[in-house]
Amino acid sequence: MTDQLFSTYVVGSLPRLQWVRELIEERKRGKISWEAAERLLDSAVPAAIAMQERAGVDYISDGEWRRESYVKVFADAVDGFGYDLHVEGATHRASQLPYPAVVSKIKPRKPIAADEARFLKQHTKAKTIVAIPSPYTVGRRMWTAEHSTKAYPKREEFMEACIPIIRQEVKRLVDIGVEAIQLDDPWLALLVDPEYREREGIKDADKEKALSVHCVNEVTKGFDNVAFSVHLCHAHFNRKHGTVGPYDLIIDALAPMNVQRFAMEFATPDAGGIGVLKRFPKNKVLGLGCIDHTDKNVETPEQVVQRVEAAMEMVPKENITLNPDCGFSPSSSNPMDLDEAYLKLKSMSQAAQLLREKHG
Ligand SMILES: [Zn+2]
Repeated sequence: MTDQLFSTYVVGSLPRLQWVRELIEERKRGKISWEAAERLLDSAVPAAIAMQERAGVDYISDGEWRRESYVKVFADAVDGFGYDLHVEGATHRASQLPYPAVVSKIKPRKPIAADEARFLKQHTKAKTIVAIPSPYTVGRRMWTAEHSTKAYPKREEFMEACIPIIRQEVKRLVDIGVEAIQLDDPWLALLVDPEYREREGIKDADKEKALSVHCVNEVTKGFDNVAFSVHLCHAHFNRKHGTVGPYDLIIDALAPMNVQRFAMEFATPDAGGIGVLKRFPKNKVLGLGCIDHTDKNVETPEQVVQRVEAAMEMVPKENITLNPDCGFSPSSSNPMDLDEAYLKLKSMSQAAQLLREKHG
């Protein structure tokens, strides 16, 4: 690995400025065209980039400010989705939010993240990380028995159909020269919570894990010189996690995934602590969640150092990178504080510096 020790990454999304949040909402409601919104966003996104540079993070994103959400970005670029379809009878808050569902055979209409990535590369000299949702998460989030069976009788068939579209996007990101590509697969991590499995009617967690691994490996197949990360979190909205529990149930799904790095949550108590790192695969890089984005208190660099040193008891320092537990605002409706995010990222960068001085 040519990177410096304790490299720092963002997970992707940053809290959006209020006017950006309103702009995304108006774009969605058709009050402003995509093109006009893009021009306005072109003036906002450089601030998200500069903020991360100032915070000293090594791998930065565009804050995902152009996206309504980390997974809807797929439906925004691909034909075949019905918008704002509620899932009847859903008890889980996330499932009650208006959400797209696949209703006809999917067909790419425009790039998913390539335009964002190109803009990002043009506006920074820092290394870049760009996230796209994994087919498994797209399949879990946007296939419903109620709306989708005519197009894809089984959820797995829909996931399969997503694979070539996401591979095509990976190819674009590689051509643009993005340094790290992140596949967002939180819906694999949600499996750790028995309440979630009950709610979703999931009886065979092994089957779900195998599906997620299959999807990731199909997407990454043949892209041998690309640094892939997979992000696994418990999902959150407005400082509350959607699921809770340690990663024990899914930790064995990591080794067979053909990616180098896993960005996971370890700062929030909701993620069940670092004990599971004893089983973290030896040949993978850990993206240690060392900033709790749900906590209003800004960690001191020393607190972050402690979290990393605790992880070093189980994972060699050469295999540890630092990131916040999750993106700060995976959806534009997620109300979080941009200044707080800046201070937290800065603390993380300062912690990495302290760690290099101490353990370098
Ligand atoms: Zn996340």
